[in-house]
Amino acid sequence: MSTIVMPVPDAEVIERKDQIVAALCAALPAETVISDAFETRAYECDALTAYRCPPLAVVLPRTTEEVAIALKICHDMGVNVVPRGAGTSLAGGSLPTADSVIIGTARLRDTLEIDYDNRFIRVQTGVTNLSVTGTVEEDGFFYAPDPSSQLACAIAGNIAMNSGGAHCLKYGVTTNNLLGVRMVLVTGEIVTLGGAHMDAPGLDLLGVICGSEGQLAIVTEATLRILPKPEGARPVMIGFDDAEVAGDCVARIIKSGVLPVAIEYMDRPCIRVVENYAKAGYPLCEALLIVEVEGSEAEIADQLDRITALAEPLGPVEIRVSKSAEESAAIWKGRKSAFGAMGQINDYMCLDGTVPVSALQFTLKRIGELAIEHQMEVANVFHAGDGNMHPLILFDANKPGDLERAEAFGAAILGVCVDVGGCLTGEHGVGIEKRDLMIRQFSPDDLEAQMQVKDVFDPHWILNPAKVFPLAASAARRQRQH
Ligand SMILES: Cc1cc2nc3c(=O)[nH]c(=O)nc-3n(C[C@H](O)[C@H](O)[C@H](O)COP(=O)(O)OP(=O)(O)OC[C@H]3O[C@@H](n4cnc5c(N)ncnc54)[C@H](O)[C@@H]3O)c2cc1C
Repeated sequence: MSTIVMPVPDAEVIERKDQIVAALCAALPAETVISDAFETRAYECDALTAYRCPPLAVVLPRTTEEVAIALKICHDMGVNVVPRGAGTSLAGGSLPTADSVIIGTARLRDTLEIDYDNRFIRVQTGVTNLSVTGTVEEDGFFYAPDPSSQLACAIAGNIAMNSGGAHCLKYGVTTNNLLGVRMVLVTGEIVTLGGAHMDAPGLDLLGVICGSEGQLAIVTEATLRILPKPEGARPVMIGFDDAEVAGDCVARIIKSGVLPVAIEYMDRPCIRVVENYAKAGYPLCEALLIVEVEGSEAEIADQLDRITALAEPLGPVEIRVSKSAEESAAIWKGRKSAFGAMGQINDYMCLDGTVPVSALQFTLKRIGELAIEHQMEVANVFHAGDGNMHPLILFDANKPGDLERAEAFGAAILGVCVDVGGCLTGEHGVGIEKRDLMIRQFSPDDLEAQMQVKDVFDPHWILNPAKVFPLAASAARRQRQH
């Protein structure tokens, strides 16, 4: 039995299922509403697959106006709503409850506008992250945030989780590349924030929406910044026989002022599995850094020289600069397939916490010590350049008690992230996974202030109500709705 609990579903709402579905079907095209118990099972979980629960019903609208109709009906009938993109959340952000309706973006897949002069693209939020770059790359542009899940995850989820990726060290995460949104408030009112320009007048509500995990509104359209593709890019692999020295190397690169586009880290357990899977040509060492720089050939050569000069005094076992596009592709194929490769050999829990880069060395040491204390194995693969750690805790989902032990180990690691001045989340969000750990980072007053923001957007706590805030802290507000 896991330690993460969900509230008891509201039997009175479940009782009214036929009435709720009838209201949705009467107002929306028939194909947008799914209520058959067999079909709703497809939506019972996201990528935090240890937790499952089919929703009451699913609505897949094709337009913002249809989202508004569905949301207003749920609001007026007192039904909780779980917004959903592609369902790849690793934090249980899009996990439904038995008394909730999912409103998903799967059919919101149109590109609405491309403007190269002003460097933006406007899309419906159901499009996948990778397809945004796919739409503009022939014209020499790209969309910078690149989660490893980019083939599947939707811009909707990226905005809700403020997602990042390997190349965010240089270009920032979603919030740094989002110019505007069109969204639906819980009452069904349609609102536009920001636009096709850098800054908008008034309060920065776009900053409030980005990263709000489906708590405040349903985002249906997004205006995204696109960038001209760099002239070229090249990674260097730097292998160390000591994890802490690798952490020190990252801190030295960042401190030096060189700005690589990515600094990725992999430890021995991960290198072994990835190499077996992707044949990327990785050296088998304790810790491998992949550092990528970009620009003209002269700029690339200069940056690589400076990085290798910083690494050499630390005694790396190998420094290997990619010499061809094929080699670079193999290096990135390995890194991008790391989570999938680990999943083939073990059940794992992917943690996501952030630490100051200068604390990487200490944090890696503490993770090693905690693994021994908790008698569990851990593999590390993460975005080292911005201190965004992803310890993968290996466990056996079929072994009674293993999930709970993994969760306790995970909580201890995230506690270390907070203690060294970092954060419980990096890019995966809080969802249900870290909901009850929020008290480790925030005081009751801090949490109260954050919940008051939700009160403004969603006074009856209908949107994703059992996520993000500890259940005990949000109990009174969630009761208030009934
Ligand atoms: C193998 C793997 C690798 C990953 N790698 C990365 C990575 O490198 N970087 C990273 O940041 N993440 C990563 N993730 C996590 C995940 O892909 C991201 O969180 C992603 O942004 C989720 O997008 P989604 O469309 O699947 O959202 P979902 O899982 O459907 O939903 C995520 C959250 O967004 C909310 N939401 C969904 N749609 C809307 C909407 N229209 N309006 C308001 N709220 C909404 C949901 O309620 C939920 O809280 C990875 C996941 C996997 C499985």
